[in-house]
Amino acid sequence: MYRRATMALGVLLACTLSAQADGQQSRPAPAAATLMSGEVSLTYLGNAGWEITDGGKVILVDPFLTQFARWRPSGPAPEIGPNDFYPADTALINAHVQRADYIVITHGHSDHALDAGYISRRTGAVIIGHETAANLARAYDVPDSSLITVIGGEDYEFGDFSLRVIPGIHSALDKKHYYNNTRGLVGTAPRGLRAPLRRKDYVEGGSLAYLLRIGGHEVLIMGSMNYIEREMEGLRPDIALVGSNSQRLEIRDFTGRLLRALGGPALVIPTHADAYGNPNPSAADLADRERFRQEVAAASPASRFIRPNWFEPIVVPARSSVAPSAGPRASGRQAVDPPGIAPLVPAYSVAIRSGDRVFVSGMTGIKPGTQDIVDGGVPAQTRQTLENIRTALLAGGATMADVDECTVFLTDMADYAAMNSVYIEFFPVDPPARATLAVTALPRPAARVEIKCSARIRGS
Ligand SMILES: [Zn+2]
Repeated sequence: MYRRATMALGVLLACTLSAQADGQQSRPAPAAATLMSGEVSLTYLGNAGWEITDGGKVILVDPFLTQFARWRPSGPAPEIGPNDFYPADTALINAHVQRADYIVITHGHSDHALDAGYISRRTGAVIIGHETAANLARAYDVPDSSLITVIGGEDYEFGDFSLRVIPGIHSALDKKHYYNNTRGLVGTAPRGLRAPLRRKDYVEGGSLAYLLRIGGHEVLIMGSMNYIEREMEGLRPDIALVGSNSQRLEIRDFTGRLLRALGGPALVIPTHADAYGNPNPSAADLADRERFRQEVAAASPASRFIRPNWFEPIVVPARSSVAPSAGPRASGRQAVDPPGIAPLVPAYSVAIRSGDRVFVSGMTGIKPGTQDIVDGGVPAQTRQTLENIRTALLAGGATMADVDECTVFLTDMADYAAMNSVYIEFFPVDPPARATLAVTALPRPAARVEIKCSARIRGS
């Protein structure tokens, strides 16, 4: 079955519930129930926390609802000191987490691993993380049957989804003195810890990123403002959750190197950049968020950028029927069979996907599902022709914004202006290179316009 929706057609915000600073408001009905095949929903839980689902399995990432406990209308509660006990806020968790099948942990710091043990005990969710994440969970009596310990480099199949574990490195805190700051943030949590734990028990234990493949999508998950470039190189997520607070500025060309290594993901969503739940972020924080957006726009102009709101599901439509630049198919050649558009004769394919290129044959203004040219003369024919091209591109994994060049054939050059007036609507910004020719005849006698084009899938 073809799903023609792509990122280019928009990302639907399924729900508009605003998070309250005190986090006491209950969750809306899960978006999962209304997801169509191929859609995934990503709901921001604060800090680096996410709920990701395709309507089947529910996967949490670094859940840290407890961060919202600090922010009260009367002002922030004092920060938890390193030697203070740091309990998970079970009321907040209960209000926002109804169900979880898996919990993926990027590293052991309290703002990533604090809530996982309680959630696992309450929901039965399996925790996936390194040894430190496992030992922190064991302190909450999470049984070993609910712990999958990884070290980085695994690529595990779970049936409904698969998960590649990506070796990573932590943000360069304290102006790069992260490993010698005397704050006790590094190291491995030992076995034998018992809850309640102190904040200092939540040591990093190493940092991991993940590539979650679910519902036909590939979601890059980051939990810090750092990465190993060669580990990201060649991954092709269509959705990237990029750790993006100002700690990224310690890293050379953080955003550019990352997005180039990933091939320009279709959708970039900042994570770990919500000022730890502060409902009134500082002007500097707000300026830095905007700066990151600009970095993404500069490094990967075709990427869509969505700033997440707490507890608002972002529903991403199905990826096109041919996965852009994914796997061995990317280097092969494949005939594209778009819905409702058949060639006039079997001597050609409507479109060909070759690697990251899509070549669309000369298209005319046929009504989809027929071989009849639409009524309405050159303007209507031009519009239908370009709609048909859009359909063919989508079926091949490309969008109109990916088109590099077109050739327009007219049976009468007097129609040049009429064709252009419609054509420009489809290419409002930086239109493709183009040649326009007048020809004595076209294969379909009623056609007065024919357009062919080729595209390179963005980010590939
Ligand atoms: Zn950390």
